[in-house]
Formats: sequence, C-alpha cells, structure tokens
Amino acid sequence: MSMSRDSAIQAKLARMPANFRRNYREAMTGKSRAAAMDAYCWECLGWECPPADCTSPACPLYSFRPAGMPHSSPELTPEQREAVGKRLVQSRKHYNETQTGTTPGSANA
Ligand code: SF4
Repeated sequence: MSMSRDSAIQAKLARMPANFRRNYREAMTGKSRAAAMDAYCWECLGWECPPADCTSPACPLYSFRPAGMPHSSPELTPEQREAVGKRLVQSRKHYNETQTGTTPGSANA
C-alpha cells in the first residue's frame, strides 16, 4: 500500500527540523524551483551540514545548491515571535544609548 502524497509530506515535515519546514512547504507548492532545490540539498545533508560545504561537485544540483539558510524565515510560535520582538526593541534601545550623536548605520562612517 502506498502512502498518499499528503501523508508523505506530513511525515517528512515531522522528521525535519522546524526551521526548514516553511521552505519545504514552499517547495511542495510546485511554484518555486529555488525552494525545491534548497529543500533537496538540505535534506540530502540531513539538515545539519550547510549545502555550501557539499563535497559532491558531480551532483547535478551542485551549481544550484543554496549558499545559506533557507530563503524563508523559520516558523515561530507567537511566544517566540514576541520574545524576538522584545530582544529587538532592547537591542535598538541599547544601540541608541551607546551611539549618541549618530544614527543607525552611521557609527563607522
Ligand atoms: S549539490 Fe550536494 S547537497 Fe545538493 S543534492 Fe547534490 S550532493 Fe546533495
């Protein structure tokens, strides 16, 4: 008995680390070859080693492997999103307190 496509997708989603799921879902829409190639390379390397470090130059996808993390941002819970927002506010506040007389991005100008 073969598994339905949706069941297979759900099973794969359950196996991969959470921060790769959004890219995988985008790939599975069939609308983004870039997302599909990224998802394939990350899965190929067990979602652990960055595809930029791939050591298989003969692979047909080698020239298209992603340089960094998946294009889409990781899925966050509402609590995680709120915590990230608070850290960003604190970071901006600290920056503004320590960079008097400058504007963000001009500290080294
Ligand atoms: S390029 Fe490397 S990481 Fe990507 S599918 Fe081929 S062997 Fe795997």
